Amino acid sequence: MAESADLCIVGGGPAGMVAGLLFSRAGIRTIVLEKHKDFLRDFRCDTVHPSTLRIFHEIGLLESLLLRPHDEVPDITAYVGTTRIEVADFSHFDPRWNFIALMPQWEFLDFVAEQARRLPTFRLMMETEATRLLRDESAICGVACHHRGEPLEIRSKLVIAADGRRSVLRAESQLPLRELGAPMDIFWFRLPKERTPDNRTTGVFTGGRIMALIDRGDYWQCAYVFAKGEAEAVRGRGLEAFRSEVARTASMISPQVSAISSWDDVKLLTVALDRLEQWHLPGLLVIGDAAHAMSPIGGVGINVAIQDAVAAANLLAGPMAEGRGVDDLLPRVRKRRLLAVRAIQAFQNLAQQRIITPLLAASGPVKPMWPLRLVGRFPLLRRLPAAFLGFGLRAEHVKSPAKFLPGTGEGTA
Ligand SMILES: Cc1cc2nc3c(=O)[nH]c(=O)nc-3n(C[C@H](O)[C@H](O)[C@H](O)COP(=O)(O)OP(=O)(O)OC[C@H]3O[C@@H](n4cnc5c(N)ncnc54)[C@H](O)[C@@H]3O)c2cc1C
Repeated sequence: MAESADLCIVGGGPAGMVAGLLFSRAGIRTIVLEKHKDFLRDFRCDTVHPSTLRIFHEIGLLESLLLRPHDEVPDITAYVGTTRIEVADFSHFDPRWNFIALMPQWEFLDFVAEQARRLPTFRLMMETEATRLLRDESAICGVACHHRGEPLEIRSKLVIAADGRRSVLRAESQLPLRELGAPMDIFWFRLPKERTPDNRTTGVFTGGRIMALIDRGDYWQCAYVFAKGEAEAVRGRGLEAFRSEVARTASMISPQVSAISSWDDVKLLTVALDRLEQWHLPGLLVIGDAAHAMSPIGGVGINVAIQDAVAAANLLAGPMAEGRGVDDLLPRVRKRRLLAVRAIQAFQNLAQQRIITPLLAASGPVKPMWPLRLVGRFPLLRRLPAAFLGFGLRAEHVKSPAKFLPGTGEGTA
Protein backbone atom coordinates (compact mmCIF):
# COMPACT_ATOMS: atom_id res chain seq x y z
CA MET A 1 0.00 0.00 0.00
CA ALA A 2 1.14 3.59 -0.57
CA GLU A 3 -0.04 7.01 0.58
CA SER A 4 1.22 10.51 -0.12
CA ALA A 5 1.33 13.86 1.68
CA ASP A 6 3.28 17.09 1.50
CA LEU A 7 4.74 16.41 4.93
CA CYS A 8 5.15 13.18 6.89
CA ILE A 9 5.94 13.60 10.60
CA VAL A 10 7.16 10.51 12.43
CA GLY A 11 6.31 10.51 16.15
CA GLY A 12 3.20 11.75 17.93
CA GLY A 13 4.97 13.19 20.98
CA PRO A 14 5.01 16.90 21.88
CA ALA A 15 7.33 17.88 18.99
CA GLY A 16 5.51 15.84 16.33
CA MET A 17 1.96 16.73 17.37
CA VAL A 18 2.60 20.47 17.66
CA ALA A 19 4.47 20.45 14.33
CA GLY A 20 1.50 18.56 12.83
CA LEU A 21 -0.93 21.17 14.13
CA LEU A 22 1.10 24.16 12.88
CA PHE A 23 1.94 22.81 9.41
CA SER A 24 -1.66 21.63 8.82
CA ARG A 25 -2.95 25.01 10.00
CA ALA A 26 -0.79 26.58 7.27
CA GLY A 27 -2.60 24.45 4.67
CA ILE A 28 0.07 21.76 4.21
CA ARG A 29 -1.20 18.19 3.75
CA THR A 30 0.36 16.52 6.77
CA ILE A 31 0.37 12.95 8.07
CA VAL A 32 1.61 12.25 11.61
CA LEU A 33 2.61 8.64 12.40
CA GLU A 34 2.50 7.35 15.97
CA LYS A 35 3.49 3.79 16.73
CA HIS A 36 1.31 3.37 19.82
CA LYS A 37 -2.46 3.08 19.73
CA ASP A 38 -3.06 5.86 22.29
CA PHE A 39 -1.21 8.57 24.23
CA LEU A 40 -1.78 6.87 27.58
CA ARG A 41 1.69 5.74 28.54
CA ASP A 42 2.41 7.15 31.98
CA PHE A 43 6.16 7.69 31.61
CA ARG A 44 5.37 10.84 29.68
CA CYS A 45 5.92 13.89 31.84
CA ASP A 46 3.55 16.64 32.71
CA THR A 47 5.25 20.02 32.84
CA VAL A 48 3.73 22.53 30.39
CA HIS A 49 5.90 25.61 30.85
CA PRO A 50 5.10 29.32 30.24
CA SER A 51 6.80 29.19 26.79
CA THR A 52 4.32 26.52 25.66
CA LEU A 53 1.33 28.28 27.26
CA ARG A 54 2.28 31.45 25.33
CA ILE A 55 2.52 29.51 22.06
CA PHE A 56 -1.02 28.19 22.59
CA HIS A 57 -2.20 31.71 23.35
CA GLU A 58 -0.65 32.87 20.07
CA ILE A 59 -2.65 30.31 18.10
CA GLY A 60 -5.85 31.09 20.01
CA LEU A 61 -6.03 27.78 21.89
CA LEU A 62 -4.80 28.56 25.42
CA GLU A 63 -8.24 28.90 27.00
CA SER A 64 -9.46 25.61 25.59
CA LEU A 65 -6.17 23.87 26.49
CA LEU A 66 -6.64 24.95 30.10
CA LEU A 67 -10.11 23.39 30.19
CA ARG A 68 -8.29 20.03 30.26
CA PRO A 69 -7.48 18.69 33.78
CA HIS A 70 -4.40 20.39 35.16
CA ASP A 71 -2.93 22.15 38.20
CA GLU A 72 -1.34 25.57 37.99
CA VAL A 73 1.92 25.68 39.91
CA PRO A 74 3.47 29.13 40.39
CA ASP A 75 6.87 27.96 41.64
CA ILE A 76 9.35 25.09 41.75
CA THR A 77 10.32 23.83 45.19
CA ALA A 78 12.80 21.25 46.37
CA TYR A 79 13.82 19.65 49.66
CA VAL A 80 17.53 19.42 50.37
CA GLY A 81 17.66 17.13 53.37
CA THR A 82 14.75 18.48 55.40
CA THR A 83 15.11 22.11 54.23
CA ARG A 84 12.40 23.23 51.80
CA ILE A 85 13.66 25.73 49.22
CA GLU A 86 11.75 27.71 46.62
CA VAL A 87 13.93 27.51 43.54
CA ALA A 88 12.02 29.34 40.80
CA ASP A 89 9.12 31.80 40.93
CA PHE A 90 6.97 32.22 37.81
CA SER A 91 4.40 34.54 39.39
CA HIS A 92 5.87 37.75 37.91
CA PHE A 93 5.21 36.67 34.28
CA ASP A 94 2.11 37.73 32.34
CA PRO A 95 -0.86 36.32 34.33
CA ARG A 96 -1.91 34.20 31.36
CA TRP A 97 1.26 32.11 31.68
CA ASN A 98 2.70 32.83 35.13
CA PHE A 99 2.69 29.17 36.18
CA ILE A 100 3.64 25.66 35.10
CA ALA A 101 0.54 23.74 34.01
CA LEU A 102 0.92 20.24 35.40
CA MET A 103 -1.21 18.42 32.86
CA PRO A 104 -0.91 14.68 32.21
CA GLN A 105 0.83 14.48 28.85
CA TRP A 106 -1.87 12.20 27.40
CA GLU A 107 -4.36 15.06 28.01
CA PHE A 108 -2.04 17.54 26.33
CA LEU A 109 -1.41 15.33 23.28
CA ASP A 110 -5.07 14.36 23.04
CA PHE A 111 -6.00 18.05 23.04
CA VAL A 112 -3.52 18.84 20.24
CA ALA A 113 -4.83 15.85 18.24
CA GLU A 114 -8.44 16.97 18.77
CA GLN A 115 -7.68 20.49 17.50
CA ALA A 116 -5.55 19.30 14.58
CA ARG A 117 -8.17 16.76 13.43
CA ARG A 118 -10.51 19.68 12.73
CA LEU A 119 -8.17 20.80 9.97
CA PRO A 120 -8.84 19.22 6.56
CA THR A 121 -5.10 18.97 5.91
CA PHE A 122 -4.25 16.92 9.03
CA ARG A 123 -4.19 13.17 9.43
CA LEU A 124 -2.99 11.21 12.46
CA MET A 125 -2.23 7.52 11.92
CA MET A 126 -1.95 5.68 15.23
CA GLU A 127 -0.43 2.19 15.44
CA THR A 128 1.84 3.14 12.56
CA GLU A 129 5.55 2.57 13.09
CA ALA A 130 8.10 4.00 10.68
CA THR A 131 10.82 1.46 9.99
CA ARG A 132 13.05 3.19 7.43
CA LEU A 133 13.53 6.18 5.18
CA LEU A 134 12.64 6.04 1.48
CA ARG A 135 15.13 7.64 -0.91
CA ASP A 136 15.18 8.64 -4.55
CA GLU A 137 18.45 9.51 -6.33
CA SER A 138 19.01 12.81 -4.55
CA ALA A 139 16.88 13.00 -1.41
CA ILE A 140 14.69 11.32 1.17
CA CYS A 141 11.19 11.08 -0.26
CA GLY A 142 9.14 9.40 2.47
CA VAL A 143 9.10 6.55 4.97
CA ALA A 144 8.34 2.86 5.00
CA CYS A 145 6.20 1.80 7.94
CA HIS A 146 3.92 -0.80 9.43
CA HIS A 147 0.31 0.26 9.92
CA ARG A 148 -1.52 -2.20 12.21
CA GLY A 149 0.87 -4.89 11.07
CA GLU A 150 0.51 -4.16 7.33
CA PRO A 151 3.43 -2.70 5.34
CA LEU A 152 2.81 0.82 4.04
CA GLU A 153 4.88 3.44 2.21
CA ILE A 154 4.23 7.14 2.68
CA ARG A 155 5.73 9.44 0.05
CA SER A 156 6.22 13.07 1.03
CA LYS A 157 8.15 16.18 0.01
CA LEU A 158 9.55 16.44 3.53
CA VAL A 159 9.92 13.98 6.43
CA ILE A 160 10.19 15.36 9.96
CA ALA A 161 11.68 12.83 12.38
CA ALA A 162 10.20 13.58 15.82
CA ASP A 163 10.45 10.00 17.04
CA GLY A 164 12.22 10.69 20.32
CA ARG A 165 15.52 9.77 21.94
CA ARG A 166 15.63 6.29 20.41
CA SER A 167 14.79 7.56 16.93
CA VAL A 168 15.18 4.86 14.30
CA LEU A 169 15.21 7.51 11.59
CA ARG A 170 18.09 9.45 13.11
CA ALA A 171 20.03 6.18 13.47
CA GLU A 172 19.39 5.35 9.82
CA SER A 173 20.28 8.86 8.66
CA GLN A 174 23.76 8.47 10.25
CA LEU A 175 23.81 12.16 11.06
CA PRO A 176 26.75 12.86 13.40
CA LEU A 177 25.80 12.56 17.08
CA ARG A 178 27.49 14.16 20.08
CA GLU A 179 27.00 12.21 23.33
CA LEU A 180 27.06 14.41 26.43
CA GLY A 181 26.38 11.53 28.82
CA ALA A 182 23.98 11.14 31.74
CA PRO A 183 25.10 9.71 35.09
CA MET A 184 21.67 8.45 36.20
CA ASP A 185 18.63 6.37 35.41
CA ILE A 186 15.22 6.35 37.03
CA PHE A 187 12.76 3.96 38.61
CA TRP A 188 9.22 5.20 37.91
CA PHE A 189 6.22 4.11 40.02
CA ARG A 190 2.97 5.32 41.59
CA LEU A 191 1.93 5.65 45.21
CA PRO A 192 -1.55 6.53 46.47
CA LYS A 193 -2.17 10.04 47.78
CA GLU A 194 -4.94 12.08 49.39
CA ARG A 195 -6.09 14.97 47.20
CA THR A 196 -4.82 18.29 48.54
CA PRO A 197 -6.02 21.81 47.66
CA ASP A 198 -2.54 22.72 46.40
CA ASN A 199 -0.31 20.74 44.03
CA ARG A 200 2.66 19.39 46.03
CA THR A 201 5.00 18.37 43.22
CA THR A 202 8.57 18.61 44.50
CA GLY A 203 12.09 17.20 44.40
CA VAL A 204 13.95 15.61 47.33
CA PHE A 205 17.76 15.59 47.52
CA THR A 206 19.56 13.67 50.27
CA GLY A 207 22.95 11.99 50.59
CA GLY A 208 22.98 9.05 48.16
CA ARG A 209 19.37 9.48 47.06
CA ILE A 210 17.27 11.78 44.86
CA MET A 211 13.56 11.62 44.12
CA ALA A 212 11.04 13.67 42.16
CA LEU A 213 7.42 13.49 43.28
CA ILE A 214 4.78 14.55 40.78
CA ASP A 215 1.43 15.27 42.39
CA ARG A 216 -1.27 13.87 40.09
CA GLY A 217 -4.18 14.46 42.50
CA ASP A 218 -4.99 11.05 43.94
CA TYR A 219 -1.58 9.53 43.36
CA TRP A 220 2.10 10.43 43.42
CA GLN A 221 4.04 9.70 40.27
CA CYS A 222 7.46 8.99 41.76
CA ALA A 223 10.88 9.09 40.09
CA TYR A 224 13.65 7.41 42.11
CA VAL A 225 17.03 8.46 40.72
CA PHE A 226 20.08 6.18 40.94
CA ALA A 227 23.53 5.97 39.33
CA LYS A 228 23.46 4.78 35.70
CA GLY A 229 23.85 1.05 35.31
CA GLU A 230 22.84 0.31 38.93
CA ALA A 231 19.30 -0.89 38.21
CA GLU A 232 20.15 -4.56 38.74
CA ALA A 233 22.05 -3.76 41.94
CA VAL A 234 19.04 -1.84 43.35
CA ARG A 235 16.68 -4.68 42.37
CA GLY A 236 19.14 -7.21 43.77
CA ARG A 237 18.89 -5.68 47.27
CA GLY A 238 15.22 -6.69 47.26
CA LEU A 239 11.84 -4.99 47.28
CA GLU A 240 11.76 -4.43 51.04
CA ALA A 241 15.11 -2.60 50.93
CA PHE A 242 13.80 -0.49 48.01
CA ARG A 243 10.63 0.43 49.93
CA SER A 244 12.73 1.51 52.94
CA GLU A 245 15.05 3.56 50.70
CA VAL A 246 12.06 5.36 49.21
CA ALA A 247 10.50 5.94 52.64
CA ARG A 248 13.78 7.26 54.07
CA THR A 249 14.28 9.61 51.12
CA ALA A 250 10.86 11.26 51.13
CA SER A 251 9.07 11.23 54.48
CA MET A 252 5.85 12.63 52.93
CA ILE A 253 5.28 9.37 51.08
CA SER A 254 6.65 6.92 53.65
CA PRO A 255 3.20 5.69 54.85
CA GLN A 256 2.32 4.67 51.28
CA VAL A 257 5.42 2.70 50.28
CA SER A 258 3.75 -0.65 51.05
CA ALA A 259 1.69 -0.02 47.86
CA ILE A 260 4.78 -1.08 45.86
CA SER A 261 3.78 -4.74 45.76
CA SER A 262 6.23 -6.10 43.17
CA TRP A 263 8.99 -5.03 40.77
CA ASP A 264 6.29 -5.07 38.05
CA ASP A 265 5.03 -1.80 39.61
CA VAL A 266 8.46 -0.20 39.08
CA LYS A 267 9.49 0.76 35.52
CA LEU A 268 13.06 1.55 34.49
CA LEU A 269 13.47 4.81 32.51
CA THR A 270 16.88 5.47 31.03
CA VAL A 271 18.19 9.02 30.83
CA ALA A 272 20.23 10.33 27.89
CA LEU A 273 21.80 13.66 26.98
CA ASP A 274 23.04 14.09 23.41
CA ARG A 275 22.56 16.16 20.27
CA LEU A 276 23.01 15.85 16.55
CA GLU A 277 25.68 18.03 14.95
CA GLN A 278 23.45 18.37 11.89
CA TRP A 279 19.64 18.11 11.93
CA HIS A 280 18.90 17.66 8.25
CA LEU A 281 19.51 15.82 5.00
CA PRO A 282 17.77 16.68 1.72
CA GLY A 283 14.11 15.81 2.37
CA LEU A 284 14.63 15.14 6.12
CA LEU A 285 14.54 17.31 9.25
CA VAL A 286 15.10 15.96 12.78
CA ILE A 287 13.57 17.81 15.78
CA GLY A 288 12.82 17.33 19.49
CA ASP A 289 14.53 14.58 21.48
CA ALA A 290 15.47 12.85 18.21
CA ALA A 291 17.74 15.84 17.50
CA HIS A 292 18.78 16.44 21.14
CA ALA A 293 17.80 13.98 23.89
CA MET A 294 17.08 15.96 27.06
CA SER A 295 17.65 14.95 30.65
CA PRO A 296 14.67 15.33 33.02
CA ILE A 297 16.56 18.05 34.95
CA GLY A 298 14.48 21.23 35.01
CA GLY A 299 11.49 19.48 33.42
CA VAL A 300 12.03 21.32 30.15
CA GLY A 301 12.32 18.64 27.44
CA ILE A 302 8.70 18.75 26.29
CA ASN A 303 8.83 22.51 26.00
CA VAL A 304 12.14 22.59 24.13
CA ALA A 305 10.75 19.99 21.70
CA ILE A 306 7.67 22.16 21.12
CA GLN A 307 9.87 25.20 20.49
CA ASP A 308 11.66 23.20 17.76
CA ALA A 309 8.28 22.48 16.17
CA VAL A 310 7.38 26.19 16.22
CA ALA A 311 10.75 27.20 14.75
CA ALA A 312 10.43 24.58 11.99
CA ALA A 313 6.92 25.77 11.09
CA ASN A 314 8.01 29.43 11.20
CA LEU A 315 10.80 28.78 8.72
CA LEU A 316 9.26 26.16 6.44
CA ALA A 317 5.44 26.28 6.47
CA GLY A 318 5.10 29.52 4.48
CA PRO A 319 7.38 28.45 1.61
CA MET A 320 5.86 24.93 1.58
CA ALA A 321 2.35 26.41 1.43
CA GLU A 322 3.48 28.35 -1.66
CA GLY A 323 4.65 25.08 -3.21
CA ARG A 324 8.38 25.90 -2.90
CA GLY A 325 11.07 23.32 -2.11
CA VAL A 326 12.59 23.84 1.34
CA ASP A 327 15.82 21.81 1.32
CA ASP A 328 17.89 25.01 1.31
CA LEU A 329 15.99 26.25 4.40
CA LEU A 330 16.41 23.10 6.52
CA PRO A 331 19.82 24.07 8.03
CA ARG A 332 18.22 27.25 9.36
CA VAL A 333 16.08 25.31 11.82
CA ARG A 334 19.12 24.03 13.72
CA LYS A 335 20.80 27.41 13.43
CA ARG A 336 17.76 29.07 14.97
CA ARG A 337 17.43 26.54 17.82
CA LEU A 338 21.07 25.74 18.63
CA LEU A 339 21.69 28.49 21.18
CA ALA A 340 18.62 27.54 23.23
CA VAL A 341 19.35 23.80 23.07
CA ARG A 342 23.03 24.23 23.90
CA ALA A 343 22.24 26.50 26.86
CA ILE A 344 19.73 24.16 28.43
CA GLN A 345 21.89 21.08 27.83
CA ALA A 346 24.91 22.88 29.31
CA PHE A 347 22.81 23.64 32.39
CA GLN A 348 21.64 20.01 32.62
CA ASN A 349 25.21 18.76 32.16
CA LEU A 350 26.49 21.09 34.87
CA ALA A 351 23.71 20.02 37.25
CA GLN A 352 24.54 16.36 36.51
CA GLN A 353 28.23 16.89 37.29
CA ARG A 354 27.97 19.30 40.23
CA ILE A 355 24.77 18.15 41.94
CA ILE A 356 23.50 14.73 40.82
CA THR A 357 26.80 12.80 40.70
CA PRO A 358 28.18 14.09 44.06
CA LEU A 359 24.79 13.63 45.76
CA LEU A 360 24.39 10.06 44.53
CA ALA A 361 27.90 9.30 45.80
CA ALA A 362 27.35 11.00 49.19
CA SER A 363 26.26 9.36 52.40
CA GLY A 364 24.71 11.04 55.41
CA PRO A 365 22.99 14.42 55.60
CA VAL A 366 23.56 17.09 52.94
CA LYS A 367 23.21 20.86 53.02
CA PRO A 368 21.79 23.07 50.26
CA MET A 369 24.48 24.10 47.74
CA TRP A 370 25.29 27.84 47.67
CA PRO A 371 23.16 28.76 44.60
CA LEU A 372 20.14 27.20 46.31
CA ARG A 373 20.92 29.03 49.55
CA LEU A 374 21.07 32.29 47.59
CA VAL A 375 17.71 31.83 45.83
CA GLY A 376 16.26 30.63 49.12
CA ARG A 377 17.34 33.82 50.85
CA PHE A 378 16.63 36.43 48.14
CA PRO A 379 13.17 35.95 46.57
CA LEU A 380 13.94 38.25 43.61
CA LEU A 381 16.71 35.89 42.48
CA ARG A 382 14.10 33.16 41.95
CA ARG A 383 13.03 35.04 38.83
CA LEU A 384 16.25 34.09 37.05
CA PRO A 385 15.75 30.30 37.11
CA ALA A 386 12.07 30.92 36.32
CA ALA A 387 12.97 32.87 33.17
CA PHE A 388 15.59 30.31 32.11
CA LEU A 389 13.40 27.25 32.70
CA GLY A 390 10.10 28.92 31.78
CA PHE A 391 11.18 30.38 28.44
CA GLY A 392 14.85 29.49 27.83
CA LEU A 393 16.97 31.54 25.46
CA ARG A 394 15.45 32.75 22.19
CA ALA A 395 11.90 31.65 23.01
CA GLU A 396 9.83 31.15 19.87
CA HIS A 397 6.72 33.04 18.82
CA VAL A 398 4.35 31.54 16.27
CA LYS A 399 4.87 33.21 12.88
CA SER A 400 3.78 30.42 10.53
CA PRO A 401 0.79 31.24 8.33
CA ALA A 402 -2.75 30.29 9.40
CA LYS A 403 -4.87 29.18 6.47
CA PHE A 404 -7.46 27.83 8.89
CA LEU A 405 -9.04 29.36 11.99
CA PRO A 406 -7.90 27.76 15.26
CA GLY A 407 -10.27 25.19 16.68
CA THR A 408 -12.71 25.27 13.72
CA GLY A 409 -10.87 24.17 10.59
CA GLU A 410 -12.57 26.97 8.64
CA GLY A 411 -10.48 29.03 6.22
CA THR A 412 -9.25 32.48 7.21
CA ALA A 413 -9.41 34.03 3.74
C1 LIG B 1 12.73 10.01 33.01
C2 LIG B 1 12.46 11.26 32.24
C3 LIG B 1 11.69 12.26 32.81
C4 LIG B 1 11.44 13.45 32.09
N1 LIG B 1 10.71 14.43 32.69
C5 LIG B 1 10.41 15.55 31.98
C6 LIG B 1 9.56 16.55 32.55
O1 LIG B 1 9.12 16.48 33.70
N2 LIG B 1 9.26 17.62 31.78
C7 LIG B 1 9.74 17.77 30.51
O2 LIG B 1 9.42 18.79 29.86
N3 LIG B 1 10.55 16.83 29.97
C8 LIG B 1 10.88 15.73 30.66
N4 LIG B 1 11.68 14.78 30.11
C9 LIG B 1 12.15 14.97 28.74
C10 LIG B 1 10.97 14.75 27.78
O3 LIG B 1 10.36 13.51 28.05
C11 LIG B 1 11.43 14.81 26.32
O4 LIG B 1 12.37 15.83 26.13
C12 LIG B 1 10.24 15.04 25.40
O5 LIG B 1 9.28 14.01 25.58
C13 LIG B 1 10.67 15.11 23.94
O6 LIG B 1 9.53 15.19 23.10
P1 LIG B 1 9.57 14.58 21.64
O7 LIG B 1 8.23 14.84 21.03
O8 LIG B 1 10.77 15.06 20.93
O9 LIG B 1 9.80 13.02 21.84
P2 LIG B 1 8.92 11.94 22.61
O10 LIG B 1 8.13 12.53 23.69
O11 LIG B 1 9.85 10.83 22.94
O12 LIG B 1 7.90 11.44 21.50
C14 LIG B 1 8.30 10.61 20.44
C15 LIG B 1 7.08 9.90 19.93
O13 LIG B 1 7.43 9.16 18.77
C16 LIG B 1 6.84 7.87 18.84
N5 LIG B 1 7.70 6.98 18.03
C17 LIG B 1 8.95 6.57 18.32
N6 LIG B 1 9.46 5.85 17.30
C18 LIG B 1 8.49 5.81 16.35
C19 LIG B 1 8.42 5.23 15.05
N7 LIG B 1 9.45 4.53 14.54
N8 LIG B 1 7.29 5.39 14.33
C20 LIG B 1 6.24 6.10 14.83
N9 LIG B 1 6.25 6.67 16.07
C21 LIG B 1 7.37 6.53 16.79
C22 LIG B 1 6.84 7.54 20.33
O14 LIG B 1 5.88 6.55 20.63
C23 LIG B 1 6.51 8.89 20.93
O15 LIG B 1 5.12 9.09 21.04
C24 LIG B 1 11.97 13.61 30.79
C25 LIG B 1 12.76 12.60 30.22
C26 LIG B 1 13.02 11.45 30.95
C27 LIG B 1 13.89 10.38 30.33
